[in-house]
Amino acid sequence: MKKILVANRGEIALRIMRTAQKMGIKTVAVYSDADRESPHVRFADEAVHLGNSPSSESYLDMDKIVNAALHTKAEAIHPGYGFLSENAAFAQLVTKNGISFIGPKPHAIEVMGDKLAAKEAVKGYNIPMVPGIEEAITDIVLAKKISQKIGFPVLIKASAGGGGKGMRVVRHLSELAEQMERAISEAKAAFGNGSVFLEKYIESPRHIEIQVLADTHGNILHLFERECSIQRRHQKVVEEAPSAILTPEIRTAMGEAAVKVAKACDYVGAGTVEFLLDRENNFYFLEMNTRLQVEHPVTELITGIDLVEQQIKIARNEKLAFTQEDLSIKGHALEVRVYAEDPMNNFLPSIGTLEIYKRPSGEGIRLDDGFEEGMAIPMYYDPMLAKLITYGKDREEAIQLMIRAISKFKIKGISTTLPFGKFVCEHEAFTSGNFDTHFVKNYFTPELLNEQYGQERKIAALVGLKLFLEHKEKLKLPDYKISNWSLKRSKK
Ligand code: ADP
Repeated sequence: MKKILVANRGEIALRIMRTAQKMGIKTVAVYSDADRESPHVRFADEAVHLGNSPSSESYLDMDKIVNAALHTKAEAIHPGYGFLSENAAFAQLVTKNGISFIGPKPHAIEVMGDKLAAKEAVKGYNIPMVPGIEEAITDIVLAKKISQKIGFPVLIKASAGGGGKGMRVVRHLSELAEQMERAISEAKAAFGNGSVFLEKYIESPRHIEIQVLADTHGNILHLFERECSIQRRHQKVVEEAPSAILTPEIRTAMGEAAVKVAKACDYVGAGTVEFLLDRENNFYFLEMNTRLQVEHPVTELITGIDLVEQQIKIARNEKLAFTQEDLSIKGHALEVRVYAEDPMNNFLPSIGTLEIYKRPSGEGIRLDDGFEEGMAIPMYYDPMLAKLITYGKDREEAIQLMIRAISKFKIKGISTTLPFGKFVCEHEAFTSGNFDTHFVKNYFTPELLNEQYGQERKIAALVGLKLFLEHKEKLKLPDYKISNWSLKRSKK
């Protein structure tokens, strides 16, 4: 494999290209109008313009991407995450054109892309599942019966759902019919597939996922867990590895279950098996993501394994060069996703230009990003700007490093989730490890964030005043009256 086309943009395109370059592989970038000046385009050895800015005319246009690969003679396509990464038809089209798809086989993508099909596939493997039904439901009488059997609260989920969308919690029987109707029509509109099912709503769960790697020779390993419970709108914002609460026994049990899920769909490549963990430490299979995950760097830091390198090696039919016993957890890693969103305003997207963009750096800090100062944030794509990742010898060190890194990360021109990241890192619930997926609902308000920052601003102002009073005599303040000296100079 001498040349890879990266069918993505932003931080993940750059991150993949860096590993390819390290492996001596040439890279091809693709880009839309809005991304003409993007760093990933400049970094690549070659770049192909796809078309207009909307995703449907660029990063989601399968034919254009395959043609770009054929034209540049790229032997493989890495889809990154999002866009076409979990599109079985794309994987198929790529392979049909004699190009290798860096990811699993279309069958695995298809099965795991549908929550119901995924449940069905893992049925015979003794994987703990959230109590619920295994098929789509439209009959309200039946839905009522099943909900009563499962016990309220129940969760209505869209089978084709993703990105935290298409979920509705129902706490009382009386709300069920109306919520079902809404969920079905929402699922139809959002995913083109109106099938919904019912699941027990787990109160106060933690979202814990297991990274797996599977080669084409039948070897499947797990690379431990990532804790992703800090979410807004069911979407992750802060992740860490390892989890603050897993015992070695639960870790092993979850790891083994994840390997079985991968086996159930003949998985090949890097994948993630997501679980919910309840208050009694029971874990339940949620879904499998058949691609590289946004939060993969925390696993790379604690295992010392470059996951993109492994993906490429697997695509080259190489055997995994290590066994489960060779793997161990070293240190602790934390990631804060830097979204162009306003935490003061319900995490709504914040549009604008990066007037100031100063990166933090130093030992234990990794920044995966794809933007530069002066760039406008296009409104067409996911609003994630960067991932700020810290690595320390233990959790406490990683958290402290994160707090410092956030304060050194200067972004002006748009609002970001950085202040929220700091809020999380300083919150007792997080530092003690005693939190769940409802962290935002339970502990976060814009007022508290404001208070925290108001307090910081007050302290900064007081320190400034104190220094001024102490050094007033020594300070030579600019004299705004025109001095004789400057008059003399100007006469020269
Ligand atoms: P998506 O594919 O949209 O990301 P997931 O099934 O992965 O959906 O769930 C996303 C998040 O929704 C989880 O991390 C969790 O916070 C919440 N969630 C999903 N299923 C349940 C459930 N049965 N009980 C409680 N929370 C759930």
